[in-house]
Amino acid sequence: AKLTNDDVRNLAKELGVKFIRLQFTDIFGILKNVAITVEQLDKALDGELMFDGSSIEGFVRIEESDMYLRPDPSTFVVFPWKPRDGAVARLICDIYNPDGTPFEGDPRYVLRRAVREAGEMGYTMNVGPEAEFFLFHVDSDGRPTTVTHDRAGYFDLTPVDLGENARRDMVLTLEQMGFEIEASHHEVAPGQHEIDFKYSDALDIADKIVTFKFVVRTIAQRHGLHATFMPKPIFGIAGSGMHLNQSLTKGGENAFYDPAASDGLSKDCLYYIGGLMKHIKAISAITNPTVNSYKRLVSGYEAPVYIAWSAHNRSPLIRIPAKRGASTRIELRSPDPSCNPYLALAVCLKAGISGIKNRIMPPSPCNRNIYEMTPDERKEHGIDSLPESLNEAVRELSRDELIQEALGEHVLNRFIEAKKIEWDRYRIQVHPWEIEEYLTKF
Ligand code: ADP
Ligand code: MG
Ligand code: MG
Ligand code: MG
Ligand code: MG
Repeated sequence: AKLTNDDVRNLAKELGVKFIRLQFTDIFGILKNVAITVEQLDKALDGELMFDGSSIEGFVRIEESDMYLRPDPSTFVVFPWKPRDGAVARLICDIYNPDGTPFEGDPRYVLRRAVREAGEMGYTMNVGPEAEFFLFHVDSDGRPTTVTHDRAGYFDLTPVDLGENARRDMVLTLEQMGFEIEASHHEVAPGQHEIDFKYSDALDIADKIVTFKFVVRTIAQRHGLHATFMPKPIFGIAGSGMHLNQSLTKGGENAFYDPAASDGLSKDCLYYIGGLMKHIKAISAITNPTVNSYKRLVSGYEAPVYIAWSAHNRSPLIRIPAKRGASTRIELRSPDPSCNPYLALAVCLKAGISGIKNRIMPPSPCNRNIYEMTPDERKEHGIDSLPESLNEAVRELSRDELIQEALGEHVLNRFIEAKKIEWDRYRIQVHPWEIEEYLTKF
């Protein structure tokens, strides 16, 4: 059962909680904190605590800056790494305007809106994320490097299992915070790791992704390492993705499963894929929101490049894992962990649901290795590509009315504005590659 305000009050007393962090994210998915003492808990739970919204990027201007935090009691959890005496807990909050209406710029509200729309059609979204990250050494001044813990070289005197120890500690901490960890393993690149937790409904998972990133970074730091969810920190080796396994349930049953279909996939499942594929270019601006995101989406490192789906190979944009029954799901392989999970799940759900509403059939599955096809063969099969840059993705977003509707005007405008600036700042840089390539040639 979900915790209520009364449960939170009792638990706080029982566990000797002294400080509570009220958390929310800005539109870029960056976690924000307002710390209060337990004496203010009642006021907080009644939604009476205010903060200055103009201090948060992408929120509001100074003239309209008063915002109210409404903690979601079901998100109450104590930080296990903090002292037991004077314990520290957190509550994730929804954001409200002074007039009592939900704030349109709150990413959690954007996801709630998409969840509600699906709910009106009888669907609940389930998501299982696979967030990858790198563990890097910090230098003698405490600054993060891109030197991994398990690569020989400069740091080869450090024990090789430094990262493994940190990861074990992360798993234990997450379990203490209510995560059900399904797997944790080293990834293909040196210093790269993945920790998978059990799927749950969209809002719960978006909260969990934010918490997950925060815990991973915190525990890494305690082990003297720097954890990064940057999508492609090192050229020439695999980047970090965040595959999003998605399914819908209806009346408690997996709506993607149809035992009567030859491949076990229901019409709803196919339409959901159709909707995702139709809108994936605009979705990319949200699921792959940084300049660096597009350095990951290149061929040769298991990241998707082409817009295709398959039940038989692991390389396409959308893979259908073999399991059927309650585990029937689609796996979207393009997202990376630099995205705002609330917005990412909202746009995926919106696109999938629109596929169902409009009966959008996806193209036939592509069971060949797309990377081995010639450009002509891909053209013949109607296989398009994902955006190649943040600039291209943002342009796609400015053309896609459905995804714009999912975000709402406030988030859309602030997001596009910020991403255009980000792109321009990048565009005018002179890259080391250019120096290497041109300095002596011309
Ligand atoms: P991979 O084979 O791609 O490495 P993993 O085993 O690492 O996949 O992760 C699978 C994820 O899918 C887990 O988070 C798991 O909980 C989730 N999952 C399982 N069943 C469903 C479902 N029906 N809907 C959504 N996610 C699911
Ligand atoms: Mg995995
Ligand atoms: Mg696995
Ligand atoms: Mg992986
Ligand atoms: Mg996967």
